[in-house]
Amino acid sequence: MNKVAHYLQEHLTGEVITSADARKYFSTDGGVFTVTPSIIVYPRNENDVRKTARFSWQLAERGRVVPITARGAGTDQAGGALGAGIMVVFPAHMNRIIELDGKSGAITVEPGINYGKMQQALHTHNRFLPPFPSSIEYCTLGGAVANNASGEKTIKYGSTRDYVKALRVVLANGEIIETRRLNKRELNKKLGLATFEGEVYRSIDTLIEDNKAIISKSVIGVSKNSAGYALSEVKRKDGSFDLTPLIVGSQGTLAIVTEATVETEVYNPDTTLIAAFFDDIQVAEQVVMELRELPETPSAIEMVDENLLNFLHEHNPNQLKGIVDAPFPKLVLLVEFDNPNDRTQKRLTKKTIKILSKYQVTYQVEKTPEKKEDLWKIRHSAAALIAHTEGNLRALPIIEDGIVPVENFQKYIQNVYELFGRYHLRSALWGHAGNANLHMQPFLDLGQVGDRQKVFKLIDEYYKMVIALGGSTSGEHNDGRLRAPYLEQLYGADIYELFQKIKQVFDPYGILNPGVKINVKLDDIKPLLRQEYSMEHLYDHMPRN
Ligand SMILES: Cc1cc2nc3c(=O)[nH]c(=O)nc-3n(C[C@H](O)[C@H](O)[C@H](O)COP(=O)(O)OP(=O)(O)OC[C@H]3O[C@@H](n4cnc5c(N)ncnc54)[C@H](O)[C@@H]3O)c2cc1C
Repeated sequence: MNKVAHYLQEHLTGEVITSADARKYFSTDGGVFTVTPSIIVYPRNENDVRKTARFSWQLAERGRVVPITARGAGTDQAGGALGAGIMVVFPAHMNRIIELDGKSGAITVEPGINYGKMQQALHTHNRFLPPFPSSIEYCTLGGAVANNASGEKTIKYGSTRDYVKALRVVLANGEIIETRRLNKRELNKKLGLATFEGEVYRSIDTLIEDNKAIISKSVIGVSKNSAGYALSEVKRKDGSFDLTPLIVGSQGTLAIVTEATVETEVYNPDTTLIAAFFDDIQVAEQVVMELRELPETPSAIEMVDENLLNFLHEHNPNQLKGIVDAPFPKLVLLVEFDNPNDRTQKRLTKKTIKILSKYQVTYQVEKTPEKKEDLWKIRHSAAALIAHTEGNLRALPIIEDGIVPVENFQKYIQNVYELFGRYHLRSALWGHAGNANLHMQPFLDLGQVGDRQKVFKLIDEYYKMVIALGGSTSGEHNDGRLRAPYLEQLYGADIYELFQKIKQVFDPYGILNPGVKINVKLDDIKPLLRQEYSMEHLYDHMPRN
């Protein structure tokens, strides 16, 4: 055991491990890269996290950087949950519900709590946290906060960032701070602090005040976005100030989350689900646009394409038997309404049917839990594709999360099909049609030199195409290592420079998850590509996407 590990073992109450097998286990996440950590820490409490950061900071002051990567369940698909230094693994001990406020419905949790278990606890109080990702069964709330995760309900309810009310975080130097929206007076108090916290508030406030014009241009015209830092959401016109939106989605590159308080919504499982079957993608785009204009946005507008249905027909023919039959439509939309008032649901359903009928689209409306579950199987069938193996071919998450303005939905799909054609790739599309946020994982073999080269050509073309359509490289999965090299192209040099300054303010020594999100070039990530891809961390559950 090296000296750093030895020191940590002596000072922490949680376990510190350096065994080769543990380090190997944490050398991959849900993405295509590999980086082996040198030390694994299972913090027992916030104090362990504080001490780890403090020690790392002191080493950095003396010229030795031992980075820290926070880790939830490691389902990150872009290499964000990897690091060469100390891996701080939260699910082992820091996984409790601290408080559930019966009145407001807000819940305060430790970051390592399993998202699905937390959601179940909320359901028992008729509440839920809407922006849950498809990986809900195996990911942590801390990881979802750090990624600004979102999912099928985001079209109506928004992303994780919209729900995080307050955080407790450990700063790079080990200071523990609480973040929430502050009024002017409270902000002034923070600005006067002689601590590192005070320095962070002063520097970020000055950065915002000096760059208002640039920051106002930093909002990309998409309905959700997990790329970059949400600088525009920190200071409001009324002078109120909140570091929380900056830390949400920052992937542990600015601070380590040790406690999160999130708002929740009333849970209504008594929904109406409509499946609509399209032979023309242009019509699907039009319908999506009109559905978004309804008096109340549907609680989901999800999709799968013909290729996914054909894939399933070939490999798991029984899964959708009697639910959707060949020959398959070009695209299936699932539209859900969850308004607690039954009459409102009926009215919205009627309006939806009117839109579908106008375009002569066939559809099916279901209210019973069993029938709805059947229809949802269409969308969840993407799991079969991402878990599929054929020799060394795997469905790789490399271009899996682009989002464009909804009016470019059809063009986006068309461009993706062209890209697949040019690269002779087998894949399929599924995802959040209402947000024009599409998922796709082409089959490639990372053991083959040709395919390894293809990966980087493909991502280059894909991300440039998404940016050219006015989109974002990540709707929900965040930048990680994979998309970090495209952040400057996405936002432009001015805004990227502000992102770099933010990183410098919070993390002057580059301790917090370096190599992720910011200051990353394509040449940095090329050597990190795995020789094989597997989802060995995720097989506790059938992975959904
Ligand atoms: C099959 C599949 C489907 C998915 N579907 C979705 C989806 O629908 N929507 C979506 O948004 N994402 C999705 N994801 C991506 C990912 O699962 C989610 O973003 C998830 O919320 C990450 O949680 P985690 O616990 O696995 O985090 P990890 O992978 O462990 O970490 C994610 C990032 O957060 C940082 N982090 C973790 N904990 C902390 C902490 N306490 N403090 C600071 N930083 C921290 C890590 O360093 C890393 O950068 C999917 C992934 C897979 C494999």
